[in-house]
Formats: sequence, structure tokens, C-alpha cells
Amino acid sequence: MTKIGFIGLGNMGGPMALNLLKNGHQLKVFDLSEDAMQKLGSQGAQLASDAADAVSDVEAVVTMLPAGEHVRAIYQGKDGILGAASQGTLFMDCSTIDVATARAVGEVAEEAGMMMVDAPVSGGVAAAEAGTLTFMVGGSESAFERAQPILGAMGQKIIHAGPSGAGQAAKVCNNMLLGITMIGTCEAFLLADRLGLERQKLFDIASNASGQNWSLTNYCPVPGPVPTSPANREYQPGFTVAMMLKDLKLAQDAAQETGATTPLGAKAMSVYAKFDEAGQGALDFSGIIKMLEGDA
Ligand code: NAD
Repeated sequence: MTKIGFIGLGNMGGPMALNLLKNGHQLKVFDLSEDAMQKLGSQGAQLASDAADAVSDVEAVVTMLPAGEHVRAIYQGKDGILGAASQGTLFMDCSTIDVATARAVGEVAEEAGMMMVDAPVSGGVAAAEAGTLTFMVGGSESAFERAQPILGAMGQKIIHAGPSGAGQAAKVCNNMLLGITMIGTCEAFLLADRLGLERQKLFDIASNASGQNWSLTNYCPVPGPVPTSPANREYQPGFTVAMMLKDLKLAQDAAQETGATTPLGAKAMSVYAKFDEAGQGALDFSGIIKMLEGDA
């Protein structure tokens, strides 16, 4: 049993914190939302009065915040949490943020005598609830070893990606690939429609041929072939268009900073941006097929 501070109890953080409690850890939680706090309080978590209180007198801390600016503010801002924690506390930031911020925050944490990993997740709210998330972890070997059992209470696969920032690098590359393969998969179904090829036939063949990919076989963007995919429930998320757009922007920022050539990543970002601007940000990202269908 570890005494853990948990900050950010939203759609993902809420169920993740609950899984830590279920696995016998002791939790001290903080969120700006009183409702989110009460949900965890009713399950036995101690309620902290602010972020600094959540990290004081604990052995480890998990943060699950919306974006890089929130992470920077809470770690490095005036009254940042690093000053309130005991020496040697392990910090695990599971938010999806840019690599540069992850590295900068990791460095400041180590200078303050703490241990830190960036540990973004793959898998949405359903995986957070089921405790089946994949964690991509950046940080030292010793920090990873300490983080592994705690992350293991919230996920199924815990992968050490490399030094500080490597978890976010893995996440941004993976999600750029996901955005691209989803659009490609939608295009294949739309072309099949025009060619008079049944959707189920395309699925049966491509899922056993070289077009096979996760967007097709696990998250199929047309209703029918994969009964659990959001296409079967009017594209209710799942993983929203707004979230995909956020990750594609992070990928493009990283590509620009490093000089990487990513023309399809850039195109995928502009396709999702157009769909988001059309007011569809809350839809599942596989719903992009609706816009492509309309454009045809
Ligand atoms: P969310 O908006 O539901 O939750 C964020 C929570 O952080 C909110 O409850 C908010 O009140 C709280 N918060 C913000 N600033 C705070 C502060 N200063 N102090 C305390 N609490 C604060 O977001 P989410 O869907 O839970 O996503 C969290 C992170 O996980 C994001 O970085 C997102 O990109 C990533 N992610 C989300 C999904 C998904 O499917 N939702 C999947 C993978 C990764």
C-alpha cells in the first residue's frame, strides 16, 4: 500500500484514481471541481484543500491534467507542488502534453530532489475504468521501477520508452499514426462504396491482407463489422475529435521543432481541424467518415 496524492479527477483521472483505491492504495485527492472531489471522497479518498496539500506527506503523486500549460503551472508556478512535497517523492504525470514541457518539468523535479516520470496513456475512458490502460513511460530506470507497480494498478501494459520525455514522444508518434490510419481506413470504405464493393467484404479481406490496421480491426469507422466500435452508436466517444486534434497539433509542433517531415500528419491535422470547426469536436474521431462522405 502506497500513500498517493492524485491531482486531476476528470474523465480519465477519476476512474484511474478509483482503481488505485480498489487496489488498496491510500489516496489524497485534489481537483478544481468539487463534484469530482466528492465522487472520490465517497469511495474513501482523503480530500485535499489544494494541490500543495495533496502532495504533502505522500510517497507518490499522479497528475492527470488537460494540457501542458496546466502541468507547467501546477509543477512550476508560484506555490507549485514541488515545494510542498517531501524529498524523494515520485511524481508521475499521466497527462498528454508536449515533449519539451515534459522534459522541462522532469528536470525541475529532479533539481528539487524528487523523482519524475512522464507517463501518458493510450486507451480512453473505458480503459481507464477497466484498468486496462497502456502507459508509455519516460524517465530514469530507477524512477520507472518505482512507478511500475503504481501504474500497474491502473493499466495492463507499462512500457519504459526511454529517458524523460520519451513517454510523450511515443504518445505523439502513436497518435499521429492513429489519426492517419483512421482517415485512410475511412477513405477505403468510401471508395469501396463507389466501386460497389460491400463494406463487410472489404473488412473481411483487408483485415486479413496488407491493409490491416487497428483503426480497421478494433475501431472500424463503419457500423457492422466490429460491434463494439463507436460507429455502431452514432459515433459517441470513445476518443473525441477534439482530443485527436489536440494530439495531432502536438505532433506537428514536435515535427516543426525537430525538422521531421510529416506531410500526412499535417494533412490529418487539417482534416480534423475542419471537422472540429464544423462543430463536431465532441464526436468520436472515427466519425470523420461523415465529413469525408459529405465532401465526396
Ligand atoms: P478532463 O478535462 O475530463 O479532466 C481534467 C481535470 O483536471 C478536470 O477535472 C479539471 O477540473 C482538472 N484540473 C484542471 N486544472 C487543475 C488544477 N490546476 N488543479 C486541479 N485540477 C485541475 O480531461 P481528461 O479527459 O480526463 O484528460 C486528461 C488528460 O488525459 C489529457 O491530457 C488528455 O489529453 C489525456 N487523455 C485523454 C483521453 C480521453 O479519452 N479522455 C485518452 C488518453 C489521454
